[in-house]
Amino acid sequence: MLRKLLESADSEIRESALNTLVSTARLRGERTVLAGFATASRGDGRLTIFDCEQGTVLSAATVARSEDGLLSKDDSVNRAFDGLGAARDFFQQVLDRNSIDGRGMGLDGYVHRGVDYNNAFWDGRQMVFGDGDERLFTDFTKSVDIIAHELTHGVIDFTAGLEYHNQSGALNESISDVFGSLVKQWSLKQTAADADWLIGAEVFTPGLGADALRSMKAPGHAYDSPIFGEDPQPDHISKFVHLPDTDDDGGVHINSGIPNKAFYLTAMGIEGFAWEAPGHIWYEALKASNPKTQFQEFADTTYEKAGDLYGTNSREQQAVLTAWAEVGIRISALAGGGATRRRGVPVADREKDSLAALRLAEMDDEAGKIEVELRLNKSSGREPAHLKVTAQIRNPLSALLIAHFGLCVGLTEILSAQVKTLIKDVGALKGKR
Ligand SMILES: [Zn+2]
Repeated sequence: MLRKLLESADSEIRESALNTLVSTARLRGERTVLAGFATASRGDGRLTIFDCEQGTVLSAATVARSEDGLLSKDDSVNRAFDGLGAARDFFQQVLDRNSIDGRGMGLDGYVHRGVDYNNAFWDGRQMVFGDGDERLFTDFTKSVDIIAHELTHGVIDFTAGLEYHNQSGALNESISDVFGSLVKQWSLKQTAADADWLIGAEVFTPGLGADALRSMKAPGHAYDSPIFGEDPQPDHISKFVHLPDTDDDGGVHINSGIPNKAFYLTAMGIEGFAWEAPGHIWYEALKASNPKTQFQEFADTTYEKAGDLYGTNSREQQAVLTAWAEVGIRISALAGGGATRRRGVPVADREKDSLAALRLAEMDDEAGKIEVELRLNKSSGREPAHLKVTAQIRNPLSALLIAHFGLCVGLTEILSAQVKTLIKDVGALKGKR
C-alpha cells in the first residue's frame, strides 16, 4: 500500500508515505532482530502510557498515565491505556497467559510519536502509536485490533519466534491479526458470525474507499481506491505471492491473507465465540511452532492441537481440516502414503553462528550516530554474550540503506568490520577463561 502512496500525485501524501516507509522499514529490521532479544521479566503487567509530544526519541517521552494515575485529558492516552489493557486482560483471562512474556511484563505505550506518522508498531519492548496524517489515517490508538495485533507480535517473539520474512513472517502477521481481531471480538462480546473480521477499520479517514487495512473474511477486498490501489492479499495458496525479502519482507502483509482466511473459516465452522475453541487451537499451535515454521506445518499443528484439545474427529478438528482445505492446504497426516511430517529446523541447530541478534538501541538521524546491541552465541551453547557498540554513520547512502532495508541488510553490512572485531575479542576473552 505504501508503494502506491509513494506514487501519489499529491505531494503531501507522497511525503507522509515516505516518512512512514523510512521509519517503518527501520523498525521492521529492528523487529526481526529484537526477537532474539526477548528477555522475560517478572512483574504484574502494569500499564504505563507515555506522550512523545510528536518527537521520535522514546526516552524523551513523559509519563501521561499509569495504573495509579487518573484519566488523562488526552483521548489518545486513554485509548492506548484501554487498548493495551484489553489485550493484556484477554491473554490473561482467555488464554491464561500473564502478559506478553508470560511472566507479567509491564506494558509501555507511547502515543503521539512523530509528526503525521501513519503507523503503529511493537518494537520488542513497547507499543508505539502515530497520530496519522488525518488525510489518510487517523490516530492509531482508535483501533483496538491494531493495538492487540502489535502486542501479539510480542507474544510471538516470546513463543515461536517466527522469523519475520516469507511464510514464517506471513504466519507472524496472520497470528497477530487473529489475536488482534479476537481481542476486539472479546471486548465487544461478538460471535464469529457477528464480527466484522476487519483489521484497522477505525484508522482510515472517511471517504477514501477503504474499509480497513485487511479483511480476514475476504482477503483482497479490504480496499480498492485510486489512492491506495487494490488490496493485494490472496485468499488461497494457489495465489501465493512470491516476493524477495526486500519487498514487504517477502510479502508478510500480503500472504498472511491465506492463514487469516483459514482462521476465519475455522471460526465460522465451529460457530459461537471465536476466542474459545478456535483461539485456543491457534494459541496452542503457536506455542508448538518454531522460528522456521511454514504454512503447511502450522496447518498440521492446528489439526493436531484440535485433536488433542477436543478429540479426534471432533467437530472442532473437522472445522480446522475443512478450513485449511478451502485455502488449498491439505493436512499432511491425511494426505496418505504415511509420509513423515516435515518439521522446521529446531532453534538450537540454527544458532551456531556467532552473531545471534542485533538490535538498534538508539538512533540519532541528524548526528548520524547509531548505538547497537549485539547478542553473540557461542557454538558451545553457553550463555549468549550481550554487547553494546556505537557506530558513526557518515555516509548518507548508508543511512538511507539502513532506513530502507532495516538492520538486517544495512547495518550488518556497515558494521560488519566492527562486529567481526568484537566477535574475535569476545572469543579471545572466553578462550582465556
Ligand atoms: Zn504486524
